[in-house]
Amino acid sequence: MTRHVALVPAAGSGARFGAACPKQYLQLSGRPLMWHTLSTLCQVAAIDEVALVLSPGDEWFDDYDWTLPKLTVHRVGGATRAETVKNGIAALGLSSEDWLLVHDAARCCLSVAMVERLLTEVADDPVGGLLALPVPDTVKRADRDGRVSITLPRQGMWLAQTPQMFRAGVLSQALAGDLTDGVTDEASAIERLGLKPRLVEGDASNFKVTWPRDLPLARAILEARQS
Ligand code: C5P
Repeated sequence: MTRHVALVPAAGSGARFGAACPKQYLQLSGRPLMWHTLSTLCQVAAIDEVALVLSPGDEWFDDYDWTLPKLTVHRVGGATRAETVKNGIAALGLSSEDWLLVHDAARCCLSVAMVERLLTEVADDPVGGLLALPVPDTVKRADRDGRVSITLPRQGMWLAQTPQMFRAGVLSQALAGDLTDGVTDEASAIERLGLKPRLVEGDASNFKVTWPRDLPLARAILEARQS
């Protein structure tokens, strides 16, 4: 039987956030930030396992309660997100037809409905796909002085989110190549194989907590859902 496994890379140090601990452990509504991420993925009926990939040197995980159904923990994270995902897949022992849903630990406002939309729209897709948002604003490229060097046409432009859903076999093949070459998400590795992942419309609330200013918004969204 084909399995659906959520793989959550959480081996980053959160350098851009600049907190004393990695951002995935910041407190949000009484829990570490990534607890909310993992809890949502565990609530999706079609997901069989939620595999969390930590850095081998992680010093924070054991300080908290992670009693969640379906959760498995793998301390095999790498130097980049792509390496963390590659190592995680190798640790899981999946069959090539199994579906992997790779999701950033720091996208803690994911909802069950968003994951179910992705699962439904990608279920029969030969390539796989990802949640993403059409770009609403005019896009500028900056020069080194912080001035506009060019305005890019926004038509057809999307912002990639996660989960990104691909068969384990093709994703392993995609990540076997050079990972230093700008592979910042799974879809870009798949694209290098000449394949075209499906874009499934996500939601603005599924943003990645990146800077301190993101935290109050994430807290407000989670608390509004709880009440
Ligand atoms: O740094 P950024 O926010 O883009 O990271 C996205 C996700 O990738 C986070 O969940 C982070 O913990 C994870 N990551 C990882 N291993 C790394 C770098 C980032 O698992 N070496």
